[in-house]
Amino acid sequence: MTRGAGSTLPTSGSSIPDVLASGRRSYSFEFFPPKNAEGEIALWKAIRRLESYHPTFVSITYGAGGGNRGGVIELTKRIAEETTLLPMAHLTCVGHSRAELRQVIGAYADAGVRHVLALRGDPPGGPEQVWERHPDGFDHAVELVEFIRSLGRFDVAVAAFPDKHPGSPDVEFDTQVLAAKADAGASFAITQLFFDPEPYLRLVDRLAATGRALPVIPGIMPITNVSQIKRMASFSGAPIPKRVLDAIEPYAEDPDAVREIGIELASRLCTDLLGAGAPGLHFMTLNRSSATRAIYANVVASDGPAASPAAPSMAATASAPDSSSVGSPAGR
Ligand SMILES: Cc1cc2nc3c(=O)[nH]c(=O)nc-3n(C[C@H](O)[C@H](O)[C@H](O)COP(=O)(O)OP(=O)(O)OC[C@H]3O[C@@H](n4cnc5c(N)ncnc54)[C@H](O)[C@@H]3O)c2cc1C
Repeated sequence: MTRGAGSTLPTSGSSIPDVLASGRRSYSFEFFPPKNAEGEIALWKAIRRLESYHPTFVSITYGAGGGNRGGVIELTKRIAEETTLLPMAHLTCVGHSRAELRQVIGAYADAGVRHVLALRGDPPGGPEQVWERHPDGFDHAVELVEFIRSLGRFDVAVAAFPDKHPGSPDVEFDTQVLAAKADAGASFAITQLFFDPEPYLRLVDRLAATGRALPVIPGIMPITNVSQIKRMASFSGAPIPKRVLDAIEPYAEDPDAVREIGIELASRLCTDLLGAGAPGLHFMTLNRSSATRAIYANVVASDGPAASPAAPSMAATASAPDSSSVGSPAGR
């Protein structure tokens, strides 16, 4: 697609909203564009390992501050063209004019990508900085949802916050924002990371009380490193409950123990969420596969396969820890 033209997308193919509307569960994995050659190798190893689970979709984060745009588009394109996976691209408003956003959306469309997670993003200096929109850009994700929907046949997802968005006055305001995103044309939401089922379940109840039927998929981040999860939780405004800190902090210097405890905690959370009716699970893999595979084996093996063209191979669940660190996502 060229700059300025409306996106024309294939009408056939799997749609995530269709899976969710059918009542089948959606299981998905999130990746971020690698920063170097070592990260790229680790990423593709994780992608290939998780591909055998036939997830409903995979998503690719958009760099914080709008950075590494080319890398995001390239990775999304490669996944669309070289794997059997259905990619969903994240997109933020950070530092982008409408014309630039249209170009990025066009590049996704050209790659055959028709699912986009529409986000505002955080200020380049971090979430605690004051948000400043591009003079010809957008202030809120809801505007990006409308914009993407106006450009073609895209299925648009949005972010939801069980523990309150850090910039929001309260969870009631968050609920109104989520309802507005549904009204603007979003067809499902994925949550920020959280650690207890209750904030998620209360969010779903509040949204239902507004009359919106927007499926909300829990975002699951396996704990594999104490300082990393503290950093990510603080960045995203998700408080880590004392019971979780008490379980992991004594083992901060023992990566294998933290990983095992993290898998146990996430498995319990996932089981509780599915038991309470969550429409699926979205795993933030951090470009590693082993913890996600272990949780998947604990939780999804007993629940049934992901709603996608083929069933997962549970033989692929053997989960030796990943050998190397591959960095952290720039966004999220
Ligand atoms: C599933 C998921 C994936 C993510 N992926 C990425 C990624 O790839 N890259 C990245 O950089 N970041 C990512 N993030 C982080 C996200 O960009 C930040 O959390 C950001 O601060 C909020 O984005 P949003 O889309 O919810 O914004 P918005 O919905 O616009 O909300 C931002 C703030 O504005 C307020 N607000 C919203 N609408 C209005 C209104 N009409 N009037 C007044 N106030 C309003 C909200 O209460 C909130 O405080 C992700 C988050 C989630 C949950």
